[in-house]
Amino acid sequence: MSTTVNFFWFRRDLRLDDNAGLYHALKGKHKVQCLFIFDKEILSKLEDPEDKRVTFIWKQLQQLNDELKKKGSSLLVKHGKPLDAWKELTNDFSISAVYANHDYEPSAIERDEKVGILLKKHHIPFHTYKDQVIFEKEEVVKDDGKPYTVFTPYSRKWLSKLNNFYLKSYPSENYLDNLVQYSKHIIPSLESIGFKESKTTFPSPVPEKEIIRHYKEQRDFPAIRGTTRIGLHLRFGTVSIRKMATLAKNTNDTWLNELIWREFYQMILWHFPHVVSGAFRPEYNAIEWRNNEKEFESWCNGLTGYPIVDAGMRELNETGFMHNRVRMITAGFLTKHLLIDWRWGEAYFAAKLLDYELASNNGGWQWSAGTGCDAAPYFRIFNPYEQTKKFDPQLIYIRKWVPEFESFDYVPPIVDHKEARERCLAAYGRIKNEKL
Ligand code: FAD
Repeated sequence: MSTTVNFFWFRRDLRLDDNAGLYHALKGKHKVQCLFIFDKEILSKLEDPEDKRVTFIWKQLQQLNDELKKKGSSLLVKHGKPLDAWKELTNDFSISAVYANHDYEPSAIERDEKVGILLKKHHIPFHTYKDQVIFEKEEVVKDDGKPYTVFTPYSRKWLSKLNNFYLKSYPSENYLDNLVQYSKHIIPSLESIGFKESKTTFPSPVPEKEIIRHYKEQRDFPAIRGTTRIGLHLRFGTVSIRKMATLAKNTNDTWLNELIWREFYQMILWHFPHVVSGAFRPEYNAIEWRNNEKEFESWCNGLTGYPIVDAGMRELNETGFMHNRVRMITAGFLTKHLLIDWRWGEAYFAAKLLDYELASNNGGWQWSAGTGCDAAPYFRIFNPYEQTKKFDPQLIYIRKWVPEFESFDYVPPIVDHKEARERCLAAYGRIKNEKL
């Protein structure tokens, strides 16, 4: 192709409105070709041919393409390793510059470095922007420049820095006239990339204001629809974090606080990438996990004999969602009652959660296992029965997911709570004593 173009590369920012990188691309002097790459390296690790996240992305791409077509353009979709895809693109197009948004996961950083080197060889600048968080990298650090490792002071600093500048939108939607006028690209079928369509219905990208208003009182009860289910959309950037943070700021501080937790874990991952493979506090890598495979299987399948744990796991397996309170209970049960390595649970959640995100999942697991920054102390071991009394007192959630729990058909408890508690305290205590 002879005309010179700019590229905008969609990754975890699958929307046309308030998209920082797209906005900058569209304001450039060349027409913009939008691109998405189905990354073979990521897809090959997914075991379920009906992976719900792949269907979600695929549907979102169709929607993007429909919107682009209304502007006379279309979305170019590649399937392969990103570096190979860019090798082809640099051959096929005359590219002036490539635009994208920052991605903070270690594997994504590596991918972008490789692509950046290739583009540089072709004298093509690679411009990237902050888009998926309000504050990134070193923007919220202690006065001495070191990263925070405790949430509360981090959140205070975060809030003190928040002002309209950081919430300002990038109105990319107003510049769509600067798209390449070619409307014939089509989205490959799911089958052609090795998947099938999942029949799951996805939550709306518009969070219900009533839920946010009553968030503080209702968020802890899994039987109530008291949380927004916006996680999936924040994960894939089908909503703008700036819009969500503005809504939170104007509606409910507790909900805003949850958005800050999300950024806290992103910040932790950025500064302490060792959390991907091991404990934030490395001394906890020495815990002697029991790692009983049969017990792990019972946990995965919601057959531990602890109704609140089983309800959570069955909800996850069936819907791809699990309520936050129950995520804490099930994760605590796996690591503390069963003494199974948190990384096993982390991987299971990663395979199943619609809103799976490396930073928050890792943070949540290390918090539950007591191995993370600002984590639940190791001696705080949730009692699943007490948790049920507090958070599902009428057993509505449990009855929904474990209908047989009051009958003889229900499995007996896999482990005795009191014995498990003592065993856990002993295992974690050994680490503590060794350290002292
Ligand atoms: P809401 O309660 O309405 O909150 C709004 C948004 O704030 C969420 O969508 C999410 O983006 C963010 N948020 C809320 N709570 C947290 C939190 N504790 N940590 C970080 N961000 C938060 N969240 C993920 O987004 N992806 C994960 O893979 C993930 N894995 C987890 C694993 C464990 C073991 C635990 C304990 C928590 C995990 N969380 C994860 C955090 C939390 O459970 C979910 O964000 C929340 O349940 C999603 O529901 P919602 O969209 O209705 O959120």
